[in-house]
Amino acid sequence: MIPQLSDQFNTDELYRSYFSSLAHEGFQGDIETDFSSRLAVATDNSVYQWLPQGVVFPKSYRDVQLINSISARDEFRAVKLVPRGGGTGTNGQSLNGGVVVDLSRHMNVIIEYDRQSSSVRVQPGVVKDQLNEYLKPSGYFFAPELSTSNRATIGGMISTDASGQGSLVYGKTSQHVASVTVVLYDGSLAEFAPVSGDALREKLAAEGLEGDIYRTVYAVVKDKQQEIESTFPKLTRFLTGYDLKHVYDPDTDTLDLSRIICGGEGTLGFIVEARLTLTKIPTFRALVNVKYDSFDSALRNAQVMLSSGCLSVETVDSKVLNLARTDIVWYSVKDLIADVPGCDMQGINIVEFAGYDPEEEKKKTEALCAVLDRQIAAHEAGVIGYQFTYDLPSILNIYAMRKKAVGLLGKADGDAKPIAFTEDTCVPPEKLADYILEFRELLDSKNLSYGMFGHVDSGVLHVRPALDMCDPLQEAMLHEITGKMVELTAKYGGLMWGEHGRGFRSQYGPKYFGKLFDELRRIKGAFDPCNKINPGKICTPLESDEPLVEVSFQKRGTFDRQIRPDVRHGYEEVMICNGNGACFNYDVNSPMCPSYKLFRDRRMSPKGRATLAREWLRQMENAGADLLAEDALERDFSFSELMQRIMNTARNRLGRYDFSDEVNKALSECLACKACSSQCPVKVDIANFRSRFMYMYYRRYLRPVRDYCVANVEKLLPLMSFLPNISNLLINNPLSRAAAKYGMGMVDLPPLSYPNLSSLAEDLEIPAFNLDAVKIMSAEDRVRSVFVIQDPFTSCYDAPVVADMLRLMKALGFRPYLVPFVPNGKVQHVRGFLSAFARTAQNTADFLNELDKIGVPLVGLDPAMVICYRDEYQKILKDRRGDFNVMMIQEWLLSVMEHRTALNEFLCDETFYLLAHCQEKTFKPSTHNDWVRIFDFFGLKLKPVAVGCCGMAGMYGHERVHRETSERIYNQSFGAAVKRYGVEHCLVTGYSCRSQVKRMEGRTALHPVQIIARYYEAE
Ligand SMILES: Cc1cc2nc3c(=O)[nH]c(=O)nc-3n(C[C@H](O)[C@H](O)[C@H](O)COP(=O)(O)OP(=O)(O)OC[C@H]3O[C@@H](n4cnc5c(N)ncnc54)[C@H](O)[C@@H]3O)c2cc1C
Ligand code: SF4
Ligand code: SF4
Repeated sequence: MIPQLSDQFNTDELYRSYFSSLAHEGFQGDIETDFSSRLAVATDNSVYQWLPQGVVFPKSYRDVQLINSISARDEFRAVKLVPRGGGTGTNGQSLNGGVVVDLSRHMNVIIEYDRQSSSVRVQPGVVKDQLNEYLKPSGYFFAPELSTSNRATIGGMISTDASGQGSLVYGKTSQHVASVTVVLYDGSLAEFAPVSGDALREKLAAEGLEGDIYRTVYAVVKDKQQEIESTFPKLTRFLTGYDLKHVYDPDTDTLDLSRIICGGEGTLGFIVEARLTLTKIPTFRALVNVKYDSFDSALRNAQVMLSSGCLSVETVDSKVLNLARTDIVWYSVKDLIADVPGCDMQGINIVEFAGYDPEEEKKKTEALCAVLDRQIAAHEAGVIGYQFTYDLPSILNIYAMRKKAVGLLGKADGDAKPIAFTEDTCVPPEKLADYILEFRELLDSKNLSYGMFGHVDSGVLHVRPALDMCDPLQEAMLHEITGKMVELTAKYGGLMWGEHGRGFRSQYGPKYFGKLFDELRRIKGAFDPCNKINPGKICTPLESDEPLVEVSFQKRGTFDRQIRPDVRHGYEEVMICNGNGACFNYDVNSPMCPSYKLFRDRRMSPKGRATLAREWLRQMENAGADLLAEDALERDFSFSELMQRIMNTARNRLGRYDFSDEVNKALSECLACKACSSQCPVKVDIANFRSRFMYMYYRRYLRPVRDYCVANVEKLLPLMSFLPNISNLLINNPLSRAAAKYGMGMVDLPPLSYPNLSSLAEDLEIPAFNLDAVKIMSAEDRVRSVFVIQDPFTSCYDAPVVADMLRLMKALGFRPYLVPFVPNGKVQHVRGFLSAFARTAQNTADFLNELDKIGVPLVGLDPAMVICYRDEYQKILKDRRGDFNVMMIQEWLLSVMEHRTALNEFLCDETFYLLAHCQEKTFKPSTHNDWVRIFDFFGLKLKPVAVGCCGMAGMYGHERVHRETSERIYNQSFGAAVKRYGVEHCLVTGYSCRSQVKRMEGRTALHPVQIIARYYEAE
């Protein structure tokens, strides 16, 4: 039995008192001090880990003013604060041991779009893609780009002066900020924008903090103009952090303090609002993917691309390309970066042309293609081929692959994982190839593996050398290489931080700024005299003797290495999370983590859950638990264990603390939808960990009754559906409903199908299944037969769908057999009844292997059930699974189509809309295309719709405690699509999703096979 974990890491008295003042003086947002909340913001995408004292989530700028004004009081002088947005920083920018002020949860409103000035006013928590989605109809967009655009916030972008693809033309974030409204350390509010003339004089003469700030910065930029000009490298990615060079225009005597805030890494104040200038969306885009025999060729040839008048040149090496090939993302780009026969593609340049005059952009594209043709013919510059496209969705797919590159690198096998610390160095583009040679020499001398990609047009290359941060020697190597890279980038006239900001690399600031560093400190002192806001980053006030943060700071590895290596490997599904935050995707129409989207609570995301899991493993290890033994599947019932469970549960109800409860709470809101396991670039699998955790947790504590009911549902349903009318009467009367709701915690249980599947199959003259008889079938009969593997949910609750599938099979000339029920076990797995699941899986696998040998295709209807045979069975049974294959119905239809001719006329004019099951789409990325091909074949029109989770997820939506969240998840995306297209036009592949539609809309949605059966039979 796992032990109790009683360490609470309590918040210090000073901070408790601070939070209490905040709560009593009208703070409207959330204040969270529980360990799990703090842990969820103790990391970003960097190697560092720093547990704060608490997290606050303001709801308005007044809340932020309160946070600051209270902390400015003498009694709270020692309180430290750090602003946080999406938490995607790569160098620990948003980490601090004080109070994390998370502006992303509530302050994410797009306030106003101003058509006249082509600008938009936003709160800081707005996500970049969210903003551009909103702006799309206006024909404008917020131009600075970054790979984390689906989760990074405007506040974070401004504070790191973010930029990325297209920066050559669009520049950095700071070039698109018209003004920022900032809450200063004392709680006062200031709006910073360019000021000159009388307005500037007024600012300079003003009393108070804002006046002090203006006077200090003005004095610095006036006095040190020469040094500022000569110190900063001449790069398009100019130095981030207190941008002295662009804050003042001597020609017009204009001071723009927003340029100090941009790149300030939250060290000067809290951005609570910004006005951003917008750019017209290009009306024409073209992409040329140029293929090379080596990465060096790609780098050196980039100058040719740059002279073609393009918008951007992005480079990717073969390591990243090969990792992309193993990811779901490859499916959408494989035809656009096809291999060149007889050549080895070792790198590509992705060249984009974009503008408003199609003819002009086409001319430029064609001119580049002509140059490439010449180079290929002359075997010059290592160019081995190219492909181009004008198709926007294809262009976006290529960029999605490029954006996923960092995450993909994390997939490296072995203990060494790619680490961010030299990942955004920047040198003048013409020196890039030579610089990379030396960079490579350095990494090769340490035998490190690494992949490379980046913005070759601006000389920024993303390199994440693989290190095992659980090994103290390799951690020391990180420090050593960082120091050497500082020297190397300086030697090439470049910068260590060309894109992601400084964070813990702040210790190297004095090296780059030289004498000007004291001026930065002067400015910090004017904004934040007590060094309260994100202290130690960028610089400290001149008067302060507090230190700068350093790369030798405590890291994630410091904690992870406390877990035994075999346990780390045994729980890789959570240990591998590298924190890149791809699971914070804001887009409700993507399958990724429905629970995070609903709660906007980082603990309820795959990253949050993986973080809690890692800490849980660590604490278990320290408490002496052997988690590999605890996880063992063979367990006998023990009365004394049951008594112990009762006692443990009672003690916790009386207030005893156990960290396992916090982990359980975060996991209990997980829908086990498995989107993370395929959408996360490194395949973090929370659903699998959740099952393992529940298995162990509920051997220490009592399980809810509903878990036992759910786990046995596969046994009960076939019995109940034997006499569906009587069962429905028994289940669906007010008394039973109340008993189900209050006794079992289950609601809205659907009625069983009447007539039942047996009757429908009888009407269809489906032959009885007899194992001995089918084993001796003739070869001819085998070719014409199909074995339908039933799942109890579709067969018992949605029998007409199975009947229609049987009808279609018959219409296609096949003889379908309904194989008697064999439990699938998925529900046992989801509930963490792992030993029962292992037994079910073994029995079923043995049976299906026997069937498979007969040589007749096995076909299943519900995607989640079929995927369970392939995924969960493989994980739990390993070699004992055998190699039986249950096909999804669309896979079987495609195989049938191979030998037939498509219908050459439309069978109906209507267009249907496909709402595919989340797991099906993510596990099998071709799902949409497959169904479209099938409908085309049968003369029917189908449009796939991008939708998120339906909110049902097996039995989740039927649990009383999740009834409301289930409905909210449905309404976010799935329900909206159903309403948009009408239930009658929506075709829904998952049983759970259809039952959710029925519950929410009161009408039945059909499965795609039903429509095909209907029209094909009529034909
Ligand atoms: C996989 C990956 C790819 C990346 N690619 C790019 C890229 O292409 N280009 C690029 O520029 N960066 C990139 N980054 C880095 C990161 O995404 C950016 O720095 C981003 O702008 C951070 O935004 P955020 O909302 O996550 O901010 P956070 O990480 O939460 O914070 C970043 C900094 O901003 C400060 N901050 C946040 N909100 C506020 C506020 N309201 N007021 C004051 N200060 C605030 C924080 O204190 C912190 O110092 C990448 C990161 C990852 C993990
Ligand atoms: S769960 Fe996956 S996507 Fe989310 S932060 Fe971890 S590695 Fe990234
Ligand atoms: S299984 Fe689904 S709900 Fe659970 S963490 Fe993964 S994506 Fe989120």
